[in-house]
Amino acid sequence: MITAGIDIGSSALKMVIWESTGKILARYVGRAGYGSEARAREFCHSIGVHIDATVATGYGRGLIDWADRSVTELTCQVRWARQEVPAARTIIDIGGQDCKVIRISESGTLADFLLNDKCAAGTGRFLEVMAAALDVPVEELSGVPDGPSVSISSTCTVFAESEVMSAVAGGRNKQEVIRGINNAVASRVAALALRLGCVPDLVITGGVAQNARIVDAIASILSTRPVVPKEPQLTAAWGAALLAHDKFLSKREGSY
Ligand code: ADP
Repeated sequence: MITAGIDIGSSALKMVIWESTGKILARYVGRAGYGSEARAREFCHSIGVHIDATVATGYGRGLIDWADRSVTELTCQVRWARQEVPAARTIIDIGGQDCKVIRISESGTLADFLLNDKCAAGTGRFLEVMAAALDVPVEELSGVPDGPSVSISSTCTVFAESEVMSAVAGGRNKQEVIRGINNAVASRVAALALRLGCVPDLVITGGVAQNARIVDAIASILSTRPVVPKEPQLTAAWGAALLAHDKFLSKREGSY
């Protein structure tokens, strides 16, 4: 059986084509925005195999009106974790415009969650603004070794950007500024996790989890060693493909 998970997030479109033998047949990561639905349709056709069921998730999930089901990202993340990291009790998902902390029950269901979607601090958007201010690609922000950092105290992204520009103008070394940016994101994210309570095992997902310095800083604040999946940006799409598999099975068995 082959299923598709389509995650139209606030900044990125992610897709996973999953085979029930446990293999990802194809994956896609690209920018979200106009044309996401057409790109999703083209990608699914381009695989050249029959897709038995499709589940859509993310902010833009309503665009995929041909999906068999539309599900929240929270449900998808929990479904993914139940399969790939069964010991996970907390997920921190750091996306383009929000950050979610998700608590998973002992039985592997959604127990509780906290969402920061009101402010760019502690999200990929913050990183993007700061990377643009420094004229470096966002991917490069993780490439700094340990060392001293500037302190960025403003929560507001606009004021934080001014702090970064002042540090640059004041002659602070670029690596110190980058460490300050990474630490600022980590401290906002960790504060959200502490509000909900961070029960191990902890998993960190989302595009920003690709920044190992931010992950290390979160780990240090929370005093726990998190699991970071190999493809952290794909977990919700992968969970959606797993839910599509569940739905197809239950439909076939007449229990859906
Ligand atoms: P969403 O589901 O909200 O679209 P994602 O989980 O897809 O979010 O993550 C997108 C965010 O990840 C973007 O803000 C992007 O800048 C950021 N991102 C992508 N690659 C990296 C990287 N290598 N390091 C840090 N952040 C990254």
